[in-house]
Parts: sequence; C-alpha cells; structure tokens
Amino acid sequence: MSNNGKHDVIVIGAGISGLSAAKLLHDQGLDVVVLEARDRVGGRTYTLKESAEKYVDVGGSYIGPTQNRIIRLGKELGIGNYKVNEEERSVFLIKDKPQTFRGSLPSIYNPFTVMDYVSCWRTFDDLAKEIPAEAPWKCPHALEYDSMSVENWMDKNCWSNFSRDTITILVRLGFATEPCSVSFLYFLWYIKCGGGVLRFVSTTNGGQERKMIGGSQQVSQKIAEKLGARVLLSNPVSKIDQTKGDVVMVTVVSGEVYQASFVISAVPQAIIGRIAFSPPLPALRNQLIQRIPMGSCIKTITYYDTAWWRELDYCGIVLGDGIISGTQDDTKPDGSYPGLVGFINGDRAREVCHLTKEERKERVAQHYCKAFSSKKALNPVNYVEHNWMEEEYSGGCYMGATPPGVLTSFGKFYMLLGKYQLMLYG
Ligand SMILES: Cc1cc2nc3c(=O)[nH]c(=O)nc-3n(C[C@H](O)[C@H](O)[C@H](O)COP(=O)(O)OP(=O)(O)OC[C@H]3O[C@@H](n4cnc5c(N)ncnc54)[C@H](O)[C@@H]3O)c2cc1C
Repeated sequence: MSNNGKHDVIVIGAGISGLSAAKLLHDQGLDVVVLEARDRVGGRTYTLKESAEKYVDVGGSYIGPTQNRIIRLGKELGIGNYKVNEEERSVFLIKDKPQTFRGSLPSIYNPFTVMDYVSCWRTFDDLAKEIPAEAPWKCPHALEYDSMSVENWMDKNCWSNFSRDTITILVRLGFATEPCSVSFLYFLWYIKCGGGVLRFVSTTNGGQERKMIGGSQQVSQKIAEKLGARVLLSNPVSKIDQTKGDVVMVTVVSGEVYQASFVISAVPQAIIGRIAFSPPLPALRNQLIQRIPMGSCIKTITYYDTAWWRELDYCGIVLGDGIISGTQDDTKPDGSYPGLVGFINGDRAREVCHLTKEERKERVAQHYCKAFSSKKALNPVNYVEHNWMEEEYSGGCYMGATPPGVLTSFGKFYMLLGKYQLMLYG
C-alpha cells in the first residue's frame, strides 16, 4: 500500500539525531517525514514523567562544555540546565574500601603508583592527539592501536593495580562495557572527541557537568511539536528500496510505503541490520553493521528523604568496582527529591540483570552504604531503574563501541556507502 505523495526526505528514527536533521531540513523549506519505531520520540533519551519525582531521566542526560551543539539546541528550544553538585568530597571504592578525594581524580601517595597513573593518563592524551577525529583509521599508528583492546594495552603498560582499576572503571563507566571488548584505537578516538581524559571523566568542566531542567527528552519532544504531523510514531521501518529510479521506497511494518528523493537513517548501527535493503548494502558496510555492539547498562536512581550524604560532606560522586561503576547526586536543582543516580554497566549489568528489581535495589543500597559508610543508605524511599539491554530499538547503550580490528578494516565504510550516501551515522 502506498502512502501520500513523494517527500523530499524521509528520516528514520526520532531520536535527537533524526529530529535535529528533520528540523534543519524543515527550516530550509523541504518536505520531510520522520518514521519512528517506538510510540515516543527521544530514543536513548527518555524522561519518565509519571514517577513520584516529577521527572526522571533514565536515558542519556549529562551535557558538558565540549558538547556545544546540544547545549546550543537546548538553549534554542528554551530548555534550561543546571550544574550537578560536586561541592563536597567524592569517593573511590575499590574492593569495598572507600577512599575520599576532592576534584576529578583520587589522591595516591605511593610515588611509583603516582608515576604509573600520571603516565597512563598523559599517554592517552598524547596518543589521542595523533588521531583524526573524522577518520581515526588514518592515524599513523592506527593498525597498532586497533590490533589491541584496552585490556591488552593495560597488560603491556600498567605497573600498578591502581592504574588498572581506574582505567577499568573509566571504560566500564564511560563505554558501558569491559576493557577487553574495546579497541584501544576506538578508546583513544572517543577520548579525543570528548576533549581529553580529564574532560571525559570530570563533572565540573567535564562531560558530566550539567543536566537539563525538566529532562533531556524535551529536546526531541519540542522539535517533534514543531514538526507536528510530520513525525509518525509506532512505524518501524522494515525495508528500503532504491531500485525504482530516483525515488526511494520505505516500507514500515504495517505494510505502508512512503516515498522520498532521499533517506536519512538516524538508527543505531547495531540494529540497522533489521532493515532489508534493496539493492543490498555494499559488502563491507553489511559486515560493519554486525561489528558495532552496544554497551550493557542498567541506569538506576535511588531516592531518600534527605540528601544525608551532603550532611556527611560527600557530594554523591562514587567511582568504584562494585555493582555501580559511577554515582552522582541526582537531587533536583531546587533541592527537592534527594537522590543518587548510579550506573550498573558492562559485566556488572550482565551479572545482575536476571535478579528482581527489588534485589538490585538492595544491592545498590548496600553499595552506597559501603561508599558513604552510613546505614542511612539502606533506607531509600523510592528506586527507579531502566534496563537498556531490553530495549528492542536501542539494543543497549550508551552507544556502540568497536572491538579490536573493526575501525581499521571497516571504519571507512562509516563514510563510503555507495548508493546509500545519506545513511551515515546511527
Ligand atoms: C542510560 C544512558 C545514559 C547515557 N548518558 C549519556 C550522557 O550522559 N551524555 C551523553 O551525551 N550521552 C549519553 N547517552 C547517549 C545518548 O543518549 C545517545 O548518544 C543519543 O541519545 C543518541 O541519539 P540518536 O538520535 O543518535 O539515537 P537514538 O536516540 O538511539 O535514536 C534512534 C531512534 O531510531 C528509532 N529506530 C530504531 N530502529 C528503527 C526502525 N527500524 N524504524 C524506525 N525507527 C527506528 C529508535 O526507536 C530511536 O528513537 C546515554 C544513553 C543512555 C541510554
């Protein structure tokens, strides 16, 4: 069944990427339609509004100084943001032993450990400088870096357990996967794109500095409001046919067919293989999309009747090797609904995803009890969680990260798509 006439552009996916593209085209006067699989917009940004806490971001949330485009878009749409609390002490929790610190990095006193740790951090930044952000496979040492995982690099270069622990936490928290699963080239590239290691890990002046008042899903919701009936929800795309001359035929699961001159896919690479392409995708592109696995993450928010950790001179930040890799204060900017956001990532997420929500809540509360050395942690008033591994139209989160060998063998097919030139990133 054919629907409507021919549009200028069909955008697949109503996450921030797809809707931003659609907004830009619509503002230029083009006739654009957005086809979205879910019954909501926002994709990996998802703000629960029915929760007792007014609004809760269970998906992507943090923005910081290097993320200029989303900050600009938020401003344009009239969405305010606020700084995440980092006034008091942070905690580094390894093997259930808490160590407090201030600023971005834990303090260490053994001079050899300091040398090793500083050397690792500096090496990441120095090597990342070599990497072209647009084409990491063109880096002079691309083959060498892409032949190993972050784990392999640690085996060769780290002398101290402290360095291994912090790098493992960095990967688990930053990529929602394990050091053995990520190419060292991909790791360096990601750090480069995020403005260096310190920016990547930091709250103040870093990637975790701010959150949007009212939740991050508003970005998509506000763009969708502007686009109105051009955004069609509950329409998973099942087929793209480019064999009929200068028209692209896009079929959704109900059987309806939409036509356009161009198609933009804003679908994560890991799940794009569910769409049937005619003609088939180029060989290496077809192989590439099988090699960008999404991370494993259960995002949790634990609420308390007071922000008792602040009374104990803790800001809420905990980095550790327990069930939660990273924690921050998630109290609303007006001080209401005191809470701690925590990420169960990588192996930890796979270990506990079979448990009940209540069992995970207890483990998370015990983790906070150890981190802040306070039994107050054991009495949350509410617990919200979202398991992104269950999400059919995300496949996991926060993003896909390539294992060794993929960027150098298939990377350029991010860009070179033959007939599918507009279907770039997902
Ligand atoms: C728990 C979590 C925490 C995160 N934390 C942060 C953070 O703090 N800071 C940060 O910058 N980023 C973070 N991210 C990542 C960030 O949310 C994503 O990078 C971003 O939202 C991706 O937007 P997108 O539009 O590119 O993709 P998506 O949001 O994935 O949008 C893709 C859209 O395509 C739709 N779709 C899929 N298949 C089809 C199909 N066949 N037909 C039609 N539609 C389809 C999906 O339903 C979805 O709406 C986090 C993500 C998660 C989940």
